[in-house]
Amino acid sequence: MIRFFNTLSGEIEIFEPLRPGEVRLYTCGPTVYDYAHIGNFRAYIFEDLLKRFLIYSGYKVFHVMNITDVDDKTIRNSQALGLSLAEYTKKYIEAFFEDIKTLNILPADVYPRATEHIPEMVKLIKILLAKGYAYEKDGSIYYSIARFPGYGKLAKIKPEELKIGARIEADEYEKEMAHDFALWKKRKEGEPYWETELGPGRPGWHIECSAMSMKYLGETFDIHCGGVDNIFPHHENEIAQSEAATGKPFVRYWLHCHHLIVEGEKMSKSKGNFYTLRDLLARGVDPLALRFLLLSTHYRKTLNFTFEALHQAAASLDRLRDFQLELESRTFPEGESQEIGEIIETATREFREGLSDDLNISTALSAIFSLVKKVNIQLQQGKLKLRDALALKRWLREIDQVLAVLPPPPKELPAEIMEKIKLREKARQEKNYALADRIRQELLEQGIVLEDTREGTRWKIISRKKQSPS
Ligand code: AMP
Ligand code: ZN
Repeated sequence: MIRFFNTLSGEIEIFEPLRPGEVRLYTCGPTVYDYAHIGNFRAYIFEDLLKRFLIYSGYKVFHVMNITDVDDKTIRNSQALGLSLAEYTKKYIEAFFEDIKTLNILPADVYPRATEHIPEMVKLIKILLAKGYAYEKDGSIYYSIARFPGYGKLAKIKPEELKIGARIEADEYEKEMAHDFALWKKRKEGEPYWETELGPGRPGWHIECSAMSMKYLGETFDIHCGGVDNIFPHHENEIAQSEAATGKPFVRYWLHCHHLIVEGEKMSKSKGNFYTLRDLLARGVDPLALRFLLLSTHYRKTLNFTFEALHQAAASLDRLRDFQLELESRTFPEGESQEIGEIIETATREFREGLSDDLNISTALSAIFSLVKKVNIQLQQGKLKLRDALALKRWLREIDQVLAVLPPPPKELPAEIMEKIKLREKARQEKNYALADRIRQELLEQGIVLEDTREGTRWKIISRKKQSPS
C-alpha cells in the first residue's frame, strides 16, 4: 500500500490510481529562459524518484512534462538579445535534455511545448468564456476567480483574502495578490504573438499546463507535481481553469517538493550561491553523487545544499559502489546461505515500506546501508557463497532501478565470447553437456557467469578492475 501526502487534502492518503495498474503523471517542466539550476533538479529528481518507485512497484507510468517556451521571462530575455523566441529557447531546451540524461532522470513519454499547443489553449479559453468564468478587458482575457467557488483550495486561501475584481497580468505573483489572472494577453509591441479567434496575443503561463496536461492525460488524472513555489498561483490557477471548463476534478494527488537552499540561504545569482548542473560539473562534481544528495533528503523537507554534504553523499555512494565491485570482482565458492536470503528479504521489505510511506527515503537508504554493513562482515569472514553473491548483485540492480546511482552493467561482450556462448547453447540443445560445461567453466575463468533461464542464456561479468573513485 503506497501513501502520499496530498497538498490538496493536506493529509497522507492511500494512493490508488484511476485505472488499476496505470499512473498518469504530469510534472511542471522547465521554463527555458536559462540553464536549469540545482533547485530545479531537486524537483525533477524528486519526481524521478516518485516515478521510478511507481514503476518498481509494478505500475505502468505515463508521464508528461511540459516545456514552457513562451512566458514573461523567455520573452524578456530573447528581446534583450534581439533573438526570436525559438532561437533563444532552443539552446536551453537542448541543455535541459542533456542535463536530465547526465542525472539519470528517466525521460517523460511526452514533452509538449507551449508554443506548439496554442490551439488547445484557445479552445480551453473559449470554453471558459462561454461558461462565464472568463471575461475580456482591453483585448486581454482574464479568469474571474470570484466565479469559481473552489478558488484557493490548494493554496488554502480564505475567501476574504481574495482580491475580487482586481486584475493581474504577470504570470507569477504572491498569495496575498489572489487577483483575476490573465489567460490571454493581448499583443504588445515587439512581443511574439499568435493570430487567433481570441484576437492577436499570447497565452498566460497557467493555461499552458491546463491545456497540455488534459490533452495528453485526460480531464482527470492521477498525479501532478512541482516545487512548492508552484502551488500558488500556478497550480491553484490550473485547478480553477480545468475544473471550471470540465466540471470534473482535475488532479487526484498533488505532490510538491520543498525548496533547495544553499548554505542555509535562498539561492540567488546576486548572492553568488547560484549553481547550475554545469557549474558543478565544471568543478569536477560526479553528477550521480549530486543525484544521490538531491534524492537523499525527504522531498517535503527543505534541502540545504552544501559542498560538505555533497562530499558526504559522494562518500556514501562510494561505499555502495565499492560493495558492488567487491561482489563483482571476487570469486565465491558454490552454495548459498540462508542468512543472506533473510538479510535481502529484510532490506527489500524495509526499502519498499520506506518508499511506500510518502517516499521516506531515509528508511529506504538505511535499509540499504544496513544490508551493506551486514554483508561486508560476511565478506571479510569469507562466508559468502556464489548464489549469495549473485542474489546480492541482482538485488543491487533492482534497488538501483529506483535510485539510479550505480554504474550500468556492461552491454556488450567481445565477439569471440559471444561465439562461445552460442556454441554452448548449441551443445546444450544437442545434449552435449560435457562440452557445454567445459565452455561454461572456461568463461567463468574469464569472469563471465552464464545463467540458463527459460528465455535463454544470460551472461554477467563478475570481474572488473577497480576504478579509482570519481
Ligand atoms: P521553473 O523552470 O522555474 O518553472 O521551475 C521548474 C521546477 O523547479 C518547478 O517544479 C519549480 O517548482 C522547481 N523549483 C524552482 N526552484 C526550486 C528550488 N530552489 N528548489 C526546488 N525546486 C525548485
Ligand atoms: Zn505547470
